[in-house]
Amino acid sequence: MIVMKFGGTSVGSAEAIRRTGQIIKTARQRGPTVVVVSALSGITDKLIAAANDVVDRKREAAAVLADLRQRHEAVCADLNLETTELLAPIDDLGEILRGMWYLRELTPRSYDFVLSHGELMSSRIVAAHLNSIGVAARALTGWDAGILTDHNHGAANVLEATYERVPRQIGDLDAVPIVTGFLAQTETGERTTLGRGGSDYSAAILGRALSADEIQIWTDVSGILSTDPRIVSQAHTLDDLTFEEAAELAFFGAKVIHPKTIEPAVAADIPVRVVNTFDPEHPGTRIVAGRRETSRAVVALAVKKHNTILALDSTRMLDAEGYLATVFQSLKTHKISVDTIATSEVSVCMTVEQKYTDQLARCAADLEAVANVELRPGRAIVCAVGLGMRERHGTGARIFGALSDAGVNVEMISMGSSKINITFVVKDEDADRALKYLHAHLIER
Ligand code: ADP
Ligand code: ASP
Ligand code: MG
Repeated sequence: MIVMKFGGTSVGSAEAIRRTGQIIKTARQRGPTVVVVSALSGITDKLIAAANDVVDRKREAAAVLADLRQRHEAVCADLNLETTELLAPIDDLGEILRGMWYLRELTPRSYDFVLSHGELMSSRIVAAHLNSIGVAARALTGWDAGILTDHNHGAANVLEATYERVPRQIGDLDAVPIVTGFLAQTETGERTTLGRGGSDYSAAILGRALSADEIQIWTDVSGILSTDPRIVSQAHTLDDLTFEEAAELAFFGAKVIHPKTIEPAVAADIPVRVVNTFDPEHPGTRIVAGRRETSRAVVALAVKKHNTILALDSTRMLDAEGYLATVFQSLKTHKISVDTIATSEVSVCMTVEQKYTDQLARCAADLEAVANVELRPGRAIVCAVGLGMRERHGTGARIFGALSDAGVNVEMISMGSSKINITFVVKDEDADRALKYLHAHLIER
């Protein structure tokens, strides 16, 4: 059995859905197949904007709905699909948005409810198209498929009970299940979402629950590339990667795969393949457990922009018990998550995503009591990854030599305990140049 996940661009137009349909048809002829789909490309962004605009009374629900309906109707018309029943979720969304307009209230729970409509629609459209080309298919929500999560709306985490429920719910369906990615439910029946890009995670959860032979992530590039191809055009496909390397890359910003995807796949030791809907013959990237022979120290680079450095400087850190505990307690109180950290005798620096700007300002004010606090926004985390780093020395020298050639100033450095990544922080505006130089000096040579 294989689980195939199709991202937003793979279902973003009638032409893309036809391609996706053919790929599923071929797979189905080979054996049991479960499909996971994202919303049509750009729809989740539109739903986020819609929720905010309606609550702020910048746009009426009717205007939002007309826009959404038009995009989905155009795709359905091109695929010769009858829309009345297919697009019914848009009517439900209308009721919710009208309620939000009056209440002027947007809670994490109602946000998730609104966002769910992208995948609710795409799964129905893909299932209807498959039925129209002779592949029996059935649209299912993530919760119908058995996925249960905690109440962490916006970035919910799967509950163990899921792994028993899914086989019961979809284990022996005759029709191909077309499951909404990104969506699940709590045990008390509230809709949750798994975080932006979370359909990859849905696919991994289903793969583990069904003991799949392979989890396939179908996207718009041929696998995981040596770096973001939008920044470095010379980026090339990596034939294989270990789970460890893929996890580091995903965590540090390689958008091609959601960081949480790796965990269920590792737990069940299921290989993940990243492949291209628009070049289905290309083998893409295979992510597997264990070791990989490589002649290189660095195989890939990831970048995550828009972070703030929180720099704390205090002589109290010298020999003081509990200083770092105080700092982290404050971060916890303000619900701030830290990505990278570096310390010296009297100072500690960490990076925090820009989405925490408000909490960070409050936290910094509290920390003034124990340290000199400096906030430096507009910073990018660059991460060089490669299993070969463990064995080879001189990698750091090569990285920082290349950055010196590029004229890029490095503000913070950290090396993960896994020893397969070197991470450093530069100004946002220097990040692309850093990536180009590093790619040319460490990966292309
Ligand atoms: P999908 O909608 O299929 O989930 P995403 O947009 O989430 O697709 O992810 C694919 C995109 O990730 C690619 O189009 C590419 O621009 C970007 N990307 C960033 N880093 C990498 C990388 N190292 N390898 C491949 N793609 C990357
Ligand atoms: N549609 C969701 C998003 O845009 C989930 C996904 O595409 O994986 O984030
Ligand atoms: Mg994605």
